[in-house]
Amino acid sequence: TNTPSSDEIHRLDREHVVHPWHAMDAWRGYDNMLVDTAEGIYLYDGAGRKFIDGPGGMWCVQIGYGRQEMADAIAAQAMKLPYASPFTNATEPAAILAQKLVAMTPGDLNNVFFTTGGSTAVDTALRAMHFMNNNLGRKDKKIILAREKGYHGSTYLAASVTGKERDVSRFDTARDLVHFLPDVNPYHRPDGMSVDDWCDAKVADLQNTIDTLGADKIGAFIAEPILCSGGVIVPPEGYHKRTFDICRANDILYISDEVVTGFGRLGHWFASYDEFGIEPDMITCAKGLTSGYMPLGACIISDTVMERMTSDDPVLFSNGYTYSAHPVSCAAALKNIEIMERENLLDHVKSVTPHFQKRLQDLRKYPIVGDVRGMGLLGCIEGRLSKDGSRLSDERRIGQMLDDACEEMGLLVRPLINMCVFSPPLTITIGEIDQMFDILERAVDLVG
Ligand code: PLP
Repeated sequence: TNTPSSDEIHRLDREHVVHPWHAMDAWRGYDNMLVDTAEGIYLYDGAGRKFIDGPGGMWCVQIGYGRQEMADAIAAQAMKLPYASPFTNATEPAAILAQKLVAMTPGDLNNVFFTTGGSTAVDTALRAMHFMNNNLGRKDKKIILAREKGYHGSTYLAASVTGKERDVSRFDTARDLVHFLPDVNPYHRPDGMSVDDWCDAKVADLQNTIDTLGADKIGAFIAEPILCSGGVIVPPEGYHKRTFDICRANDILYISDEVVTGFGRLGHWFASYDEFGIEPDMITCAKGLTSGYMPLGACIISDTVMERMTSDDPVLFSNGYTYSAHPVSCAAALKNIEIMERENLLDHVKSVTPHFQKRLQDLRKYPIVGDVRGMGLLGCIEGRLSKDGSRLSDERRIGQMLDDACEEMGLLVRPLINMCVFSPPLTITIGEIDQMFDILERAVDLVG
């Protein structure tokens, strides 16, 4: 009887909650969707309307919603040991989880620094680079190479290496220590240029930057295997391996930000090696690690980097969080991984990917669609022209228009200016993929 009405929740939300990416022009004036319950790949709003969760939460709900086993594992750990300071204590869930993670990663990535999410994992990786180079007496080797359209998080340092200009333009950043490599999106290559030539040009961007700035000034290169919130930008084939080799040759740490691509999104635990054949010095992950049931992130660090951070002096790597390696989050991650293993979710993703990607490619036939791209269970539609071939007057809002049209028909997608992206729970079936794309097709047709 004390349950507040939907209207009341909306009112409280409008008056008191500041959301991530809060619309400051519509401050206190905007009703966000009231999400009430969830089951499988579906979300239900306050009025009981059902939606396919196209974005999978925020690219994170790999095993889907409503898993009793997850709730039980979380409750059991909360009763047994809800918290222990990670600064001085070992706990069973953290130790077992760390062992699991290093078994999933390539090379000598044998050391796990647990964080509270993706941004803090990225911060940790960059601070480890600073620490390492200070330890080695290379005080000038600190510039971070990052990429236009890259997204790495919302802490000061992670935002500073984020290359989505719109997201950072009203903030101060540590940009004087960051250098951005230009857009790698093959869709944006000049008319007449082959994808191979585009790849050569993008690799040359890195080499030229190193030649100009000097390898002795550059500490790290940070890259997402696929630039996800930048618009699911799949790099040209060979790009990652070639840029990785250049970093290795120049003693520049390679940080692979797998916050989205980890944990099955592309059909692998991690994509760096299994999809792209590289062995990064550090891998950052979060999101799918717990399928969003609890907050957790990790920065996985190679033995080589750890050794180079080691000192004969009694120095501490004084980086960390009260909720690093939170026992309840680690227990949730262990149960999540157990479910993914038991249900062979990596194989499931590999088996449904061709159908998902084919339905995505089929959208090319609509004139409004400029490009579609994706990999695994990641997809993006980039808008272009209206039906008569002229530019849409509202071109930049295509993402929002598709989102509105899809929502009417029971599908949520994520609008990104002139694009919309989706990354459904990995448990999605062929039938549900068809439902999703049937709605998308109708929406594309309507908006066009
Ligand atoms: N890195 C990448 C590639 C991401 O996509 C994100 C979030 O979307 C982050 C880092 C930041 O993670 P979090 O929001 O958990 O701090």
